[in-house]
Amino acid sequence: VGIFNGVDTLPPDALFDIKKRYTQDTRAHKVDLGIGAYRDNNGQPWVLPSVRRAEEKVHADKGYNHEYLPITGLPALTGGAARVIFGPEYAEDRTVSVQSISGTGALHIAAKFLAKFLPERTIYVSDPTWANHKAIFQLQGLNVASYPYWDAASKSLLLDGFLDSIDLAEEGSVFLLHACAHNPTGLDPTPEQWDAVLERLAARNHLALFDSAYQGFATGDLDRDALAVRRGVRRMASVSPVIVCQSFAKNVGMYGERVGCFHIVLPDQSSEVNSRVHGAVSSQLAKLIRSEVSNPPAYGAKIVGAILADKSLTAAWHADMVTMSSRIHAMRAALREKLVALGTPGTWDHIVEQCGMFSFTGLSPEMVRRLETQHAVYLVSSGRASIAGLNEGNVDHVARAIDEVVR
Ligand code: PMP
Repeated sequence: VGIFNGVDTLPPDALFDIKKRYTQDTRAHKVDLGIGAYRDNNGQPWVLPSVRRAEEKVHADKGYNHEYLPITGLPALTGGAARVIFGPEYAEDRTVSVQSISGTGALHIAAKFLAKFLPERTIYVSDPTWANHKAIFQLQGLNVASYPYWDAASKSLLLDGFLDSIDLAEEGSVFLLHACAHNPTGLDPTPEQWDAVLERLAARNHLALFDSAYQGFATGDLDRDALAVRRGVRRMASVSPVIVCQSFAKNVGMYGERVGCFHIVLPDQSSEVNSRVHGAVSSQLAKLIRSEVSNPPAYGAKIVGAILADKSLTAAWHADMVTMSSRIHAMRAALREKLVALGTPGTWDHIVEQCGMFSFTGLSPEMVRRLETQHAVYLVSSGRASIAGLNEGNVDHVARAIDEVVR
């Protein structure tokens, strides 16, 4: 009877546990800076106007139904998604694109695919990185190591350490790169630094795996935020495949609908080889997806597919992206300004210099604990704050709370 009696109890997921404590907190002035989900100026989830319009369009379509999607997903989504991320670098004949269960599912497909075809290769992730990265690859039995990325003292990129790791890693290793708006630091390499990273990756025949979960959040511009991926695809075309794991959770604001794509861009070989490998990789991915999810979820895919297929909806979506990124930017400025006005010890310029949804504040775990217990301000113990949780009604309270715990 007791075959599972020896199963260990694991601690709850740190991020979702913050959400739980926040929900149970009865203090009226509580502030959630935990999970990376956009909130409007009233602290509410925001259904993008472009998404509302796309929903109406999808429902008005006479052919609307709840049939299964193809195994590899909705072509309007996978094709549109490839064009959004690759732009002018999209080489359709060398790119295999399949739908995934949001960004996590895309990373999971990457992990399964690598475990099957390149099981000996180590996956290098940035230090620090999104907490789930390690778990996703390790669960498939892959070896995960890290490369230096963030210097806590200077709050800047450890470019030399990053480049050295690329040089020292065994040839043909996998490097997981945050396409933009690095989570948790909010610090991205400059275009010149990206070029240096890509040169070294190419020199060592490494495989670049881009995780694109925040396209549009770094600059408000989807094209500018795809710079690293596009340069990567161009640089690696003669070297190695490039993998891209793409999430639409944040930039379309459809977190729970799980819309994403997994892409492999094959290196440019003869057209005969390109076509054969394309077919082979597609067939392997289809088999993998069939056994894992059978076929991907349809609703969110139809909405995002509709946005990407219609010029006017795409333009509306771009405008929504600007709305979200500008509000976050304004909140960064407001928080920094208030801390400076309070004379809070330390420098706070990094809050405005960092990009995307997060600020890596530099607050210690003890300060974060006190923010929660004394001030009802919730963030991750690493000091990462989701700036999207700030608004005109709570930024003053948050600044005063930070001021109190820092002193
Ligand atoms: N990668 C990174 C860096 C992320 O921050 C996230 C979301 N927090 C994801 C991938 C995946 O998110 P989702 O599965 O919701 O698309």
